Amino acid sequence: MEILHVSAECYPMAKAGGLADVVGALPKYQQQLGHYAKVVMPMHRTKFLYENEWEVAHKGNFTMGSMNFDFTIIKEKGNKLGFDLYCVDIYGLLDREKIYSYDDDTERFTAFQLAVLEWIAQWEHRPDIVHVHDHHAGLIPFMMRYCFKYQHLAGIRTVLTIHNAQYQGWMGWDKVSYLPSWDTWKWGLLDWDNTINPLASAIKCADKVNTVSPGYMQELMHEANGLESLFNYEMGKCSGIINGIDYAVWDPEIDTYILDNYGVKDCRHGKALNKKQLCDRFGFDIKYPLIIFIGRLVHEKAADLLPESFNRAFHDLPKKFSCLVLGSGEKSVEKALVNLQGNWVGYYNTQIDYNEKLSHQMYAGADFILMPSRVEPCGLNQLYSMRYGTVPVVRRTGGLRDTVIDFGDEGGYGICFNNASVDDIVYSIDRATRLYEDKQKMDEIRERMMQINNSWESSAQKYIDLYNSILH
Ligand code: ADP
Repeated sequence: MEILHVSAECYPMAKAGGLADVVGALPKYQQQLGHYAKVVMPMHRTKFLYENEWEVAHKGNFTMGSMNFDFTIIKEKGNKLGFDLYCVDIYGLLDREKIYSYDDDTERFTAFQLAVLEWIAQWEHRPDIVHVHDHHAGLIPFMMRYCFKYQHLAGIRTVLTIHNAQYQGWMGWDKVSYLPSWDTWKWGLLDWDNTINPLASAIKCADKVNTVSPGYMQELMHEANGLESLFNYEMGKCSGIINGIDYAVWDPEIDTYILDNYGVKDCRHGKALNKKQLCDRFGFDIKYPLIIFIGRLVHEKAADLLPESFNRAFHDLPKKFSCLVLGSGEKSVEKALVNLQGNWVGYYNTQIDYNEKLSHQMYAGADFILMPSRVEPCGLNQLYSMRYGTVPVVRRTGGLRDTVIDFGDEGGYGICFNNASVDDIVYSIDRATRLYEDKQKMDEIRERMMQINNSWESSAQKYIDLYNSILH
């Protein structure tokens, strides 16, 4: 089966979060299952772009409203990722350093999708599945069916994976002329609340829709940033498939970013060596439990609760601990986290940064990872942490609920709480610091977590089953 993934991110070419990890791994595992999977994404100006060799796969042009664009599709030559990676280069529009957050993101991602369709339209054959990820590729299912110039693509089956339903790519109807001439009777398939909503459009038009965990799909039926009724209406084609881990990238036994490799057998020792390096670097005492947070400092991740929670926990809790935060996002949260440093020298540190290498070192060196998320479609941090023997301290939501069992329950290994609140976070930190004192229990939990198989193999097969359900 031939599958074309269309995405704004793909690790290691460009990553802002979990979307990149999934799109960088799933096609590789689909290849291993004997399918032909490839990825097309915008050509962001990243390190990976400059460090690798590319060849031109296609050149074309299109109009978007009154603008004319030439585009080039380049292909990575060395098969570095285990699948074919194609990037769309549109001079001045896509070739930028950041992936998102430009004023013209609507134009950028609409142009990206148009270029992808122009390219597929030239193929001599048809792929079996066009698999679009998130709203950045959300107009594709509609355009394949209802834009007259792409109607010969209408028979190709489409799948939408929602990695985050908070962001929907809203664009005003004044921009509808960006789409090539289409069947205007079908305007309702673009619209949600008087706005063009690419995510809603893909939910309506794709043959199948899935989220990255079953729990998150259930939650979207009740809370989906305005799309609840749509999810309920389309329930029949919706499902959840939990993400896996790419063990070629996330395995403490072979991870080249971490300073000392370790496995289940020498976990306590291996983690202690990695912890020492982290503690030396950030001025912590190795004897205290080290709690980390890695992620976007945004409301969804409940990052706004961190400063007060840490402050209160440092003040009130009987047992000492250290804490390291890596992330960037809302300026007020960044500032509050940095300010905390002055109050808790030797116990608390913040890195306002996006740093892949440090993140690996933190997963390896920490004792606990805190994820108080308000919304968590799957959450990869807890899966990586478990693989690295770091105990997840998570709010029961979305994929966190699906993947973490409290150590107080049978077969459990994590610390779970119900509310995204300062009280619950402080209480859970207290539980973590107490658990840390029971070395035997910690060893037992680490061993249990590290042996859980969260590999992509079974999830990749579930995607193939999903495709088969619409092909046959
Ligand atoms: P998101 O909602 O951000 O996609 P996920 O848990 O699905 O959350 O994926 C987060 C991914 O991004 C993980 O691979 C995590 O290690 C990585 N990550 C997030 N923030 C940072 C950061 N500041 N530095 C390095 N890696 C980060």
